[in-house]
Amino acid sequence: MWVEDWTPRAACKSASPDQLFVRGAEQNKAKQVCQGCPVRTECLAEALDNQIEWGVWGGMTERERRALLRRRPNASWRQVLETARTQTPGQPRAAREALGRGGAGRRRADRGARERRGDR
Ligand code: SF4
Repeated sequence: MWVEDWTPRAACKSASPDQLFVRGAEQNKAKQVCQGCPVRTECLAEALDNQIEWGVWGGMTERERRALLRRRPNASWRQVLETARTQTPGQPRAAREALGRGGAGRRRADRGARERRGDR
């Protein structure tokens, strides 16, 4: 079930905003607070649908979200993520698979592409 009023249930609600709105590689550390967050999918959909550029949302860094937006620029992310959740219980994994980030094979392919482009 989609949680409309998701912010009161956020795992980060007592965290300092400075903890999630960090820059660069610090975001990979910051997003650990999102693991196990009960409204991670809602949070991610909010950030993607509103093209929020800064900070960690839904367990994803700015860079990770930009990659999704490039891949599916006209998507309704709420619809994508909500559909994935209803079709497959165990929502964070279902959401990752809907986004094409389903596992180690995908991560290896992403890393190979980054290395070919010269990214870190
Ligand atoms: S997913 Fe992360 S940023 Fe979003 S509400 Fe949960 S803890 Fe906060």
